[in-house]
Amino acid sequence: MDQLKFLERHLGPYKSSRHEALFQCPFCNHHKPKLSVNVDKFYWHCWVCDKKGRSLFTLFWQMGERKVLAAYKAAFPESIEVYPEPEPGDFTLQLPTEYIPLCQNASATNARRAISYLKKRCVSTEQILKHKIGYANEGRFRNRIILPSFDAQGHLNFFTGRTFTNDLYKYLNPETPTGYKKTIVFNELNVDWNRPVFLVEGFFDMLNVEDNAIPLFGSTLPKDSKLLLNLVVHEPDVYVCLDADARAKQRIVLRNLISYGISCYDLDVRPYNDVGEMPSGTFEKHRQMARRTNRTAILHERIQSA
Ligand SMILES: [Zn+2]
Repeated sequence: MDQLKFLERHLGPYKSSRHEALFQCPFCNHHKPKLSVNVDKFYWHCWVCDKKGRSLFTLFWQMGERKVLAAYKAAFPESIEVYPEPEPGDFTLQLPTEYIPLCQNASATNARRAISYLKKRCVSTEQILKHKIGYANEGRFRNRIILPSFDAQGHLNFFTGRTFTNDLYKYLNPETPTGYKKTIVFNELNVDWNRPVFLVEGFFDMLNVEDNAIPLFGSTLPKDSKLLLNLVVHEPDVYVCLDADARAKQRIVLRNLISYGISCYDLDVRPYNDVGEMPSGTFEKHRQMARRTNRTAILHERIQSA
């Protein structure tokens, strides 16, 4: 079966012209066939509600039809590698102009303070270089360690500034458009989707896992996030490793992943508050103890903790 036939089975009959097929739009249900699908590349776009995407995978994804999504993945495995990519004119982020990488000027006073803070948190010199960790002497991020994150192409997609002088605000983030975080994967550059992935809350948690960890910069995994989309596409084993005070949120993330058929492990960080404060070698022990979880186990824990 080709992709167009597959689409017809799920969206109903279509009208065709030379390069496009016109379907009734499942999002706005306009009575005329306004959803245009390019029959070569399968880009799609609704002329009425302006929903659009670059593969049928994202169409079924946005429809929230999990069974159809699974059937589509099974039938057209080569067609799901197209992610929603930023469009021209989309927001791009830049490091503050005051940013100084710690690989330079490591002897300057503030650099020494920054490095001493990082050493206290067991961040190695290799990690400082690998993640291009820096600091600033002036500006909005003055006296902060700057922790950058890069996308799969190596472009900056986020950064956060951690004070090393006990400022009232521990972290300071750049200004980004509403909903921006859902459009990026933190630390994407270093993620190998074919190996187990560790979801953690913050940057230092990520550094403590060392390998294949993704910070959520929070404790939720939004349904329309690029991160969830990637997890559904690649189906790695996922270890959820949120902070000790976020067990209820951890259950929500696990339940969500399980509903997409992803095999999930409930990694309990207790008695520590978070992954970031675990002494060296401890995370591996928690990983080994983490059990593969399912709906019943999550429900059971929810009842016990109530
Ligand atoms: Zn529409």
